[in-house]
Parts: sequence; structure tokens; C-alpha cells
Amino acid sequence: MNSLKASASSLRSTVFLLMILIFTKPINSKDFLQCMASKFSTANVYTKESTLYSSLLLKSQKNPRWLNSTLAFKPLYIVTPSQEPEIGVTVLCSREHGLQVRVRSGGHDYEGLSYLSRAHFVLIDLVHLREIRINMEDQTLWVQSGATLGELYYNIAQRSSTYGFPAGVCPTVGVGGHISGGGLGVLTRKYGLVADHVMDARLVDVNGRVLDRKLMGEELFWAVRGGGGASFGVITAWKIKMVPVPLTVTVFTVHKTLEQGANKLVDRWQQIADKLPDDLFIRIIVQNVGGGSYGVKKTVQASFNSMFLGNVQSLISVMELIFPEMEVGAKDCKEVSWIESILYFAGHPSGTSREVLLDRDHQLYKSYFKAKSDFVNQIIPETALQQAWERQLQVDEAYMVMEPLGGMMNHIPETQLAFPHRGGNLYNIQYIVKWKVNEAEEARRHIHWVRMLHAFMSPYVSKSPRTAYFNYRDLDLGINGNNGTTSYLEARVWGTKYFKNNFERLAKAKRRIDPSNFFRDEQSIPPFG
Ligand SMILES: Cc1cc2nc3c(=O)[nH]c(=O)nc-3n(C[C@H](O)[C@H](O)[C@H](O)COP(=O)(O)OP(=O)(O)OC[C@H]3O[C@@H](n4cnc5c(N)ncnc54)[C@H](O)[C@@H]3O)c2cc1C
Repeated sequence: MNSLKASASSLRSTVFLLMILIFTKPINSKDFLQCMASKFSTANVYTKESTLYSSLLLKSQKNPRWLNSTLAFKPLYIVTPSQEPEIGVTVLCSREHGLQVRVRSGGHDYEGLSYLSRAHFVLIDLVHLREIRINMEDQTLWVQSGATLGELYYNIAQRSSTYGFPAGVCPTVGVGGHISGGGLGVLTRKYGLVADHVMDARLVDVNGRVLDRKLMGEELFWAVRGGGGASFGVITAWKIKMVPVPLTVTVFTVHKTLEQGANKLVDRWQQIADKLPDDLFIRIIVQNVGGGSYGVKKTVQASFNSMFLGNVQSLISVMELIFPEMEVGAKDCKEVSWIESILYFAGHPSGTSREVLLDRDHQLYKSYFKAKSDFVNQIIPETALQQAWERQLQVDEAYMVMEPLGGMMNHIPETQLAFPHRGGNLYNIQYIVKWKVNEAEEARRHIHWVRMLHAFMSPYVSKSPRTAYFNYRDLDLGINGNNGTTSYLEARVWGTKYFKNNFERLAKAKRRIDPSNFFRDEQSIPPFG
């Protein structure tokens, strides 16, 4: 018996040692480079010694707090493919030489997962894959994943004043991450998510093959619309059906501080925001104002930031009927084209040239931040919101962004795509805290603050599970282990928060396309089983 125990224990030690050897196998940098050179002689590969390595790595990361991270490695190599076969070769050479890959389109991942990893890895940066081909005859377009939303908006507007695209508000966000995670924006109440309008996609799989919708099959095509791309392969391009927009839309923003009755107005908004006509979108951005050296009292302000798909006159009639408390008048409103409304929501002053949408590196959207999210399915008591905003005064720069749902979102079943947050949700909330100095203590203090706010809100938001939006990535919800062995059951802890019951179907799609779990990260979907 004792000898059996001893041999079992020595077997365990040997396995453990073997695992260490496998996972710490020294990386011979020549092997990967030789593999790339032999399979694709013109591949664009950068090593840490390349002059362009640092600027490439830093260029499109939007949350530079990760620059100082000691918890993760920077990429051993950066590959910037300009064709799909180059991606296939990168995947094969990475697998052959024990390296993982991370894929980056626009670099907006809140937790830096597209450009940092706890394992040695190759970064596939799609910055050169950003072709946009528009077909006005059938109102469809093909866009490569490395394009930004701004580039896409700009190109559509150059071809048409009456067609648009229902995606997010930040122009530097990458098409690749955004669409694969769902894509919420100003047109969501009218048309749903951007992922709802995807007709086809192209994906490089774990064997380096390029698959379109027909070749990948409907399960995988379902999964990459809302389930994120990073678990399944490298999505190179998307075919999208554009949506009609009027020649003239109306935008307005009404600001109210706590002293001016912001809480009463927000309370009223909660009752109607998801029931407004589908043509009307009113989101709320709550932030601190005042303070500083001029003796102006620091307080909280709610900004009702809105777009109506019609002219001022019709908007005012609608508002008088359903939201008279806001007292919106013509003086608050501006009639603009759809593309000008994009500039408005992106925070550009009136008169800014639309060419600014082509600036992928615009500094406006770079900051050190941590964010968390919630979906709300019953009205939050006024007193609870008041307390949340009092907490907000404890930090310098924090935002609570409340985005209305309802409208078209109520007509799409939870299982239609991997993104499940449809009917029954009134709105979602994003809690964002920012800081100015990239130091560990500053980060710790602010992250603690936003976690406490999130904890405070728990009685008032969705429950069992408390849901969150995958594109507002939050590693606090749970993470996979480092070696790819996290099981489906273990990952359910965070997976059902993003995907509810769709998580199981996602894991089954994963098992079919990538059973060895090559494409993985801290929140990738493990193969079912
Ligand atoms: C300033 C700002 C504003 C935002 N505004 C909105 C908004 O209005 N609405 C909204 O819904 N979201 C918004 N987001 C969130 C945004 O949609 C997500 O962060 C999205 O994932 C970013 O995509 P990306 O390509 O820029 O990011 P990346 O960091 O490049 O990628 C994000 C994730 O997707 C994976 N990925 C990227 N490209 C591919 C690909 N081609 N194939 C496979 N996997 C891929 C990455 O590996 C990573 O896991 C905003 C984010 C920021 C920072």
C-alpha cells in the first residue's frame, strides 16, 4: 500500500515537473522567425529589437495604465499582416513554437487583453487590414476588422447622406473587437446592435484556414456576433447591411446639477427611457463639475445627451408630450446630418471637419481608467442614485453613463445572437473612474473606489446573474487560469454574467472550432465539456 502511495506521489511530481518544463520551455526567437520566413517571406514581423516595435505596441492602446503592468508580458513579436494568408501562417508558426497569440484591431479593450498576456505570445495587429468596400446598390458593405468606427462612418457618409450604421460613439474603437462583442450606440433603440446587421464574416481558424459564413457554419457565425472574437480565431472582415437615416437629425444636451433637480429628472427618465419612440435616444452622463480654485461648489451634474431621427419641430412635440419635465426648447437643439451627429456624440465642437474621424490616435479617447457595468431591469430608487452620486464626489473624475434600451432591443430574442441583454432591460450603466498619474497607488485607490460603487449598486441592478456587457470588459467578474485548463463549469462564474444561458452554446461552438483551446485569454470561452 505504502509503495503504491509512494509511486503515485512520484508520478504526480514527474507530471508536475513535466508541466513546468512544457510551460516554461525556453523560446528560441529564431525558430518562430524562421518559420515565418519559410512560410511567408514578406511577412511584417517586428521583434523587441526592431526600431518600430515600441511605437507599434503603444500606438493603438487606449488605456495606457497597462504600460506599467508587471502582471503580464509584452509581445515577443508583433505581426502586422496585410493579407489573410499572413495571419494563417502566424497562427501556424505560433502553435508550432509554443507561443500564444493576441489579436488587436482598435486596442480599446478595457483590460488590455488584446496586447498583453501572462504567457509568451505574438501580437497580431490588424492595423493594415482596414479596407472598406461599400455597395450602395444593395446597401451593404465589407469592412476589414482593423478599420475604426470613425473610418467606417466617414466612408459611408462620403457615399450617402441617407444611410448609416448603428455602432458605438467613440470613433477610434476598432471594428474587430466592437462588432464581435455586440456594439451598442445611439441607433440601438431604433435598429439594435451593430452585430444584428452582420450578414457574413471571414475568420482565420486555428489551422490557418480562412472561413466565410458558409464554411464556418451557422453556430460559429452566431458565436462571433456578441460572443467576442478572441475565443474563436482571427476575424478579418465583416459584411454589414447599412440602415436608413434621415437627411436631418436633431441633437441636444440638457445639463442639470443636483441643485437644479437632476435626481428628479433622472427618476422620470428611468420610467420612460426604454419606452420612448424608437426614433429618440436619450442617454445620461453623470459627472462631477465645479470645485477647483474659483470657489465654485463641487457638485454632480447629469447631462441628457440625445439624438432624434427627425427635425426640431417634431422632436419638441414629442418631448412636450412625453417628457415635459425636461423643458427642451428649440434653443437647446441643433439640426444636423447623421455624420455631424457622430461628431457631436464623439465630443467634437460644432464645425469640426469630419476628417477628424480618420484620426485613429486621437488623444481625446486615451486615459488611465477602470470601468464596470450593469444592466438595470427595475427602476432604481431616487435615494439610491442620490447616494451613488454622493460617492462620486469622493474622486476627481468619474462618470456614470446610463444608456437606454427598449425599442428594437425588445423585439430581438435573447438567443438570436450571443449577446443576450435584450427585452426586460431598461438601460445599462457604465461606471468609469479616471486618474491622471500612472502610478500603482493611484490605480489601486481609484480601482478600489469603483469596486465599492459597484458593490453599493448591487441591490438595485440585475441579479442571478448580475449581468455585464462583454465589450465593457471587467476582469473582476472572474478569470481563467494561465494554462488553458479552466473548465467550462469554472468559467461559468464570469461567462453567464456576460452571456447568460448563451454561454453553454458558445462553449459548444468553441469545442467545435478550437478544441485544443489555442485561442485563449483571461476571459476566453473554454471548450464545452
Ligand atoms: C473610449 C471608448 C469608447 C467606447 N464606446 C463604446 C460604445 O459606444 N459602444 C460600445 O458598445 N462599446 C464601446 N466601447 C467598448 C468597445 O466596443 C470594446 O472595448 C471593443 O472590444 C473594442 O474593440 P477594439 O477592436 O478597439 O479593441 P481591441 O482591444 O483591439 O480588442 C478587444 C477584444 O477583441 C478581440 N479582437 C479584436 N479584434 C479581433 C479580431 N479581428 N478577431 C478576433 N478577436 C478580436 C481582442 O483580442 C480583445 O479580446 C468603448 C471603448 C472605449 C475605450
